[in-house]
Amino acid sequence: MLYGIISDIHSNLEALDVVLNKLYRAEQLICLGDIVGYGPNPNECVEKIKELNIPTVAGNHDKAVTGEMEVTWFNRSAREAVFWTQKELSEKNLEYLKTLPEVLEEDDFQIVHGSLRSPIEEYVTSISEALPTFEKMTKPLCFIGHSHVPLFIALKKDGNYDGRMLGDGEEILVEDYEKVIINVGGVGQPRDGDPRASYGIYDSKTKIFTLHRVEYNIEQVQEKMKVAGLPQPLIDRLHFGR
Ligand code: ZN
Repeated sequence: MLYGIISDIHSNLEALDVVLNKLYRAEQLICLGDIVGYGPNPNECVEKIKELNIPTVAGNHDKAVTGEMEVTWFNRSAREAVFWTQKELSEKNLEYLKTLPEVLEEDDFQIVHGSLRSPIEEYVTSISEALPTFEKMTKPLCFIGHSHVPLFIALKKDGNYDGRMLGDGEEILVEDYEKVIINVGGVGQPRDGDPRASYGIYDSKTKIFTLHRVEYNIEQVQEKMKVAGLPQPLIDRLHFGR
């Protein structure tokens, strides 16, 4: 099965549309959470995910917007965007966000927004942070989001660990490892210095994962954010991919 893996859309419809077009050959799409927050089109992004029936896990922004999670630890801009999104979202779309599960299994992989130890909140950006998730993995592969930085961390067959950030076009052969955690990066707010939208393709037959980047109309999103009155730092960062 050919899977298209997306994460951290953050109400960025322009980026989502371009990525979905690129994934037209995927037989099944998967979403790792944070559909909303930061960007100007929360309803449109939620509705697209619903329409396409994409299995999706909950992210911290999804849960903040529904009120199921405290926003006290969000920075000021993120918090303002959460409040803006709460006002903007339709009742139906809010209800949908409340139904999102924390962890899902599919084929030979699991999906979670943060980590398997703390599905909504924990960042996994290093080998030490990955250890609890390796312990809890019931499949050889786990896809994560949350940091918006594409990377892989692997437990090797000899018991050692491996890991690095992933660039456009890089491939990981999952079978080479005992267990693999892959962050597919962010569709709608990349943070690795590359402003292009990030997503992944996983072929469960060949066991090959490939990371992809694609340009989208950043200026158009920034213009919409300005009109919506969203915080300037959130508008600026799209341009830098930070
Ligand atoms: Zn996010």
